Amino acid sequence: MKRIAIIGGGISGLSAAYTIEQKRQSGTPVEYVLFESSPRLGGVLVTDRVDGCLVEAGPDSFLTEKTWAADLCGKIGLGDQLIGSNDSERKTYIVVNGKLVVMPDGLMFMVPTKIMPTVFSPLFSVRTKLRMAAEWFHPPRKGSEDETVAQMVERHYGSEMVDLLADPLLSGVYGGEASELSVRAVLPRFADMESKHGSLGRAMLGLRKEARRKMGATTKVPARPLFSSLKDGMQQMVTALAARLDGRALKTSAPVQSVIRQDNGWTVCAGYKTDHFDAVIIATPAHAASDVLQSADENLSRDLGEIKYSSSVTVTLGYDEKVRRSIPPGFGFLVPRSAGHRMLAATFVHNKFPHRAPENRALVRCFLGGARDEQILESSEKEILGIVRAELRQIVGIAFDAEPLFASVYKWKSAMAQYSVGHLERLQRIESLSRKLPGLALAGNGYYGIGVPDCVRSGAEAAGKILTEMAMWSAAEPSGKPSSSL
Ligand SMILES: Cc1cc2nc3c(=O)[nH]c(=O)nc-3n(C[C@H](O)[C@H](O)[C@H](O)COP(=O)(O)OP(=O)(O)OC[C@H]3O[C@@H](n4cnc5c(N)ncnc54)[C@H](O)[C@@H]3O)c2cc1C
Repeated sequence: MKRIAIIGGGISGLSAAYTIEQKRQSGTPVEYVLFESSPRLGGVLVTDRVDGCLVEAGPDSFLTEKTWAADLCGKIGLGDQLIGSNDSERKTYIVVNGKLVVMPDGLMFMVPTKIMPTVFSPLFSVRTKLRMAAEWFHPPRKGSEDETVAQMVERHYGSEMVDLLADPLLSGVYGGEASELSVRAVLPRFADMESKHGSLGRAMLGLRKEARRKMGATTKVPARPLFSSLKDGMQQMVTALAARLDGRALKTSAPVQSVIRQDNGWTVCAGYKTDHFDAVIIATPAHAASDVLQSADENLSRDLGEIKYSSSVTVTLGYDEKVRRSIPPGFGFLVPRSAGHRMLAATFVHNKFPHRAPENRALVRCFLGGARDEQILESSEKEILGIVRAELRQIVGIAFDAEPLFASVYKWKSAMAQYSVGHLERLQRIESLSRKLPGLALAGNGYYGIGVPDCVRSGAEAAGKILTEMAMWSAAEPSGKPSSSL
């Protein structure tokens, strides 16, 4: 019987455990123990119910385009529980001069693909609009060295685009800054387009035309929603996964201090107990992986520790019908740094998804923190609520003078990985160092994608890598095949 330890019970670790459990149930002589330091499974996937509303503390959805999360939901019996975002309501605002200005139609990230909405948008200055027109003739980039997203966006569209769009969009996804994040790690498609076509606008339009041509050639398929979630919230995934795992193998309140390579396997030290395994999957944030691997390999531990993380705070406020009527249509707004607020973004949850709030409730979720405001973690919940309420009043309007019916504040310390310039080179070093440690696999949001679907994939791939090393994985298996050697 082969034994595998999984460290970390977030969605990455649970996805790894599910892959191994499937093998175990099909009669393969393998077992696993999952160690989770906190008293509950799921990591940052936490859903609460308050006053008839569904409150997401961490992620509220995932990108539909990345199918790994939805595929896993299908396998664990949640296929009929998947819901899509209300895309007919899709509209995002940017805070400019204290007002909400709608993002023009046709913007793909920050690349304009429709001329008229951009020309008439009050969001951009004439100077930026002229830059957008000139961008059409941008030459391909020579050289392939990494750079920040801000450097790339500025070269194409100027600094206003970095401030109004690139920076706030990256704050929303990574809790990071355009002037720090690596374009090759965060926007690899854009780096590729630039080197092949020069102009991002022309390249994007070409892709859209190609997609439309393909869609026209096939039978009419309704457009998929941009975001997917679950009727009962993201935690539904955690509950369903845990129910399909071997209950005896799930150890909560079990922090792992170290893993040491010993006797052709791995000794895992958790509290006062040690246990021996043939392999270990570390599915924690990279900084925690760095700590547990310190005795196993100092160099690997150092490289893992260099992957930066940022912290964030989410605040969900529930309001009555009157406030709901005063909230504009759309998914919410992004706050550029130049607006001078502490809030990074807010989602009008009742507009974005069905099944989140009754008709007589408004649900507004606000984001704070990120790489440039770690101090927010030191503020009390009362102080954070004060900030959020004052800023909502300034940005969305007077109706926010009203006392919220409820407010939930969640703090996430060092939970969002920052893929800074040189990230891909660092991953190459990590891969080559881990190759020297048989029976070790890494999974989680610190490596090849921060979103829930990428974490699901990384867990399945880590399990696939270990099972392959144990000659328990056939090349023909449909999922969980390792596509990178991490
Ligand atoms: C506020 C917020 C909003 C987000 N929104 C979205 C979104 O809308 N859509 C999206 O796709 N993604 C979103 N993300 C990103 C995504 O949710 C995460 O990247 C992903 O869930 C991380 O999963 P994970 O299992 O890799 O890590 P985690 O969820 O961090 O889980 C790691 C687990 O390891 C445990 N652990 C750590 N050290 C040890 C140890 N030594 N021993 C044992 N256990 C240990 C931790 O307790 C934790 O439970 C969001 C993230 C945050 C924080």
